[in-house]
Amino acid sequence: MSETLKNEKALVVFSGGQDSTTCMFYAKAHFKEVELVTFQYGQRHDLEIEVAKNIASEQGLKHHVLDMSLLSQLSPNALTDHSMQIEDNEDGVPNTFVPARNLLFLSFAGALAYQIGAKHIITGVCETDFSGYPDCRDSFIKSMNLSLNLSMDKDFVIHTPLMWLNKKETWALSDELDALSYIRNKTLTCYNGVMSDGCGECPACHLRNQGLQQYLESKGSL
Ligand SMILES: [Zn+2]
Repeated sequence: MSETLKNEKALVVFSGGQDSTTCMFYAKAHFKEVELVTFQYGQRHDLEIEVAKNIASEQGLKHHVLDMSLLSQLSPNALTDHSMQIEDNEDGVPNTFVPARNLLFLSFAGALAYQIGAKHIITGVCETDFSGYPDCRDSFIKSMNLSLNLSMDKDFVIHTPLMWLNKKETWALSDELDALSYIRNKTLTCYNGVMSDGCGECPACHLRNQGLQQYLESKGSL
């Protein structure tokens, strides 16, 4: 990335999980000024919001928490309906899927970026591990970038540093950013609300821990 970007401001879509925390460190490495936005929408665990707030304050970053609780009115699903189990539907899309969630999040992130004067929006979406989520695909992000620019007559740039990485490569990136142990210990990815390495049993833990083991093995430190 060119040096000139270092003088610009970035807004990171931030959940306090592994991916968005990696994006936060990526943003800190590349941009002069970084702010975070977290969407509150009836997550299974209030702990998620607390984790995000703690990381933001430890990193000394301005943190915007936006209320998106209307999402739970739109779709009963395993992320917001606490009585449901998390599993894959027959069509291979996990039942944690909230239709158009990322479309909505990026729209609000764009509106906030406009207000705070941030040209860059960074999001941890990824095609590699979550191909079941259509609004995490690269083609959607490009379309969204164009729509944001047209809607506000701006030239925002959406960055997706994790788009083509698998979990092993995401851990490698966090290591390059000198943040592997911070991310391993301070983030929450587990669907059962267990910090750090998590419950070890839910799909999010499987993905995260398998990638971490693969990375540590490849590095020869396991
Ligand atoms: Zn878990």
